[in-house]
Amino acid sequence: MSEKPLPPPIIPPAAPRVRPQSPPAPYQMAVVSDDASAKPRPTSCAQCGSAHLSTLTQLPVCESCRLALVRFPFPMWVKLAAAFVTLMVVVSLAVSQERFTDAYDTVRAEKMVALQRWEDAFQSYGRLFKTHQDAETTVLYAESAMGSHHYQEAAEAVSSLTGKYIPEYLHHRATVVVDDLDRLAQEHERRMTPDGKPKIPYRPE
Ligand SMILES: [Zn+2]
Repeated sequence: MSEKPLPPPIIPPAAPRVRPQSPPAPYQMAVVSDDASAKPRPTSCAQCGSAHLSTLTQLPVCESCRLALVRFPFPMWVKLAAAFVTLMVVVSLAVSQERFTDAYDTVRAEKMVALQRWEDAFQSYGRLFKTHQDAETTVLYAESAMGSHHYQEAAEAVSSLTGKYIPEYLHHRATVVVDDLDRLAQEHERRMTPDGKPKIPYRPE
């Protein structure tokens, strides 16, 4: 039997080498020079150059410039920007208020039409018609005016449609209003004299 070769000797891992610590650096005193701590206060106003500095503030300004800063602490462009932003807020609030009122009137008017409360519908559509003269608002207003016997307003509304683009779905409804007005006018003509007095239907010869 031959001798088995010995396994390689187990070498313990080398202990981590500790780097010898360098001795702490000697504490360095912060060098504060006398003239840096005693930075001289400016002797003249930073705004206007006046030699008389105010004693009421640490700021290097004279008394009149200090008062000006207290009174007008913001530069003019900041004030103008603030005024502009305020104006925009007011305008947008007014616009959204108007939109809200319009939406309210629209919903209310539709409800009044559904309930056949024509006078109420006419009032709501009348408010909308003052600001919106689009074809749809005009026709809806004219219909409610017919329903509540405001024929003059209905006639004015449909005649305001002249020359305007009217979407196809409104053609028939606008025509109904115009035809009703025509019929009423003919009836009126038949029953009234030209000066608006009722004709006597039967006059014996
Ligand atoms: Zn000054």
